[in-house]
Amino acid sequence: MQKHLAFFLSLIFVFGSIAGCLGSDDDSNSDKEGDITEETGNEPDNSTIEPDVSPYAIICPDGTNGTLEWGVETCAEPDIFKTADVSNETVNLTLEWYNIAATEWGNYGPVEIYVIGDDLDAAKDLEDVYCERHKALDANWNEEWDCANENYQIFTRYVDEGGAAISTFKRTYLEYDFMMMIMSAKYPGPEEDDYKPVTLHEYFHIFQHSQISDECSGDSRDACERDPKMGGKDKPWFAEGGAEFMAQSLYSTQDGVGENYLREVMQRKLEMSQEGYNSQDEELDQLGYDSEVNVYDVGSWFIAYLIHNEGESAFIDGFYGDLDELGFETAFENNFNKTKDEYLAEFYTFFSQPAEDVMALFPEHSDTEEQTE
Ligand SMILES: [Zn+2]
Repeated sequence: MQKHLAFFLSLIFVFGSIAGCLGSDDDSNSDKEGDITEETGNEPDNSTIEPDVSPYAIICPDGTNGTLEWGVETCAEPDIFKTADVSNETVNLTLEWYNIAATEWGNYGPVEIYVIGDDLDAAKDLEDVYCERHKALDANWNEEWDCANENYQIFTRYVDEGGAAISTFKRTYLEYDFMMMIMSAKYPGPEEDDYKPVTLHEYFHIFQHSQISDECSGDSRDACERDPKMGGKDKPWFAEGGAEFMAQSLYSTQDGVGENYLREVMQRKLEMSQEGYNSQDEELDQLGYDSEVNVYDVGSWFIAYLIHNEGESAFIDGFYGDLDELGFETAFENNFNKTKDEYLAEFYTFFSQPAEDVMALFPEHSDTEEQTE
């Protein structure tokens, strides 16, 4: 809460001077409450009520007033932490690709990025930093189970296992909501090109989670509305397919990335998954993380197919714009004009075609002029 208090105090201080500035620019509009209602979106009718400063008010990096609240686009930069053995170069690389994603899909927060190296003790030290930080930020933070322990190796497991992840802390018992992004030194490591699309992939999860306002209990055995909105509890097809396809798609448009990059990535995913998927009976939306067929690969193809048919805006703005209010199934049907099951059935027909016909979604760059619409 200390951080909020600091923001709150500085907001009061800055607000006075900004209100003065606005007043001198346009005297007819110098009413202080008017300025506040504009900022917070309150009804003008409420202008007789004393303005209350939002607990989410912050000062932006450029000195202007902003908001840092779950689900609301923000000017805030993520807080980034690293283990002692991670270089500043890796931190800068991570931020560079984080910002490319945030520019594309909207900057959401609060986000804390933790970059883990390959030194176990350094990872333990960072777990202590994390624990102290959240004890200070949130009176309800429970040191016993929210900080690292025998069964909850927050950062140390990444020293061995590598990889990257997003965790959400939108919980009924917590005061301070945030998302945690963990990047590590392997699978992929920062020296690999794959580190870049993986950073974009993780950010797309931040975008997804930011569109969902429900809170969880913190006990994974309890049902939580966040799960069906992500596509189903432990059912990664939609969330992972979306993050993977959107990340590779965005990466393919960056400077220095080959013209046929996306086609090649999708070709590889097809080769890895098509035969295996088509020769089994499990529905795509029922596959788990540990299924024999790689649900990321088939999921990416489903999202590619969906976006090919409906357009990216129907997915990003339409579906994700409606998701929180309408829930997964209705948001799906309203924006893609079929039920989820109808769309899946159509996708299975598409995906059972010969590979070259499936690949027609991604024409080769050299002859795109003839082939694309
Ligand atoms: Zn993912």
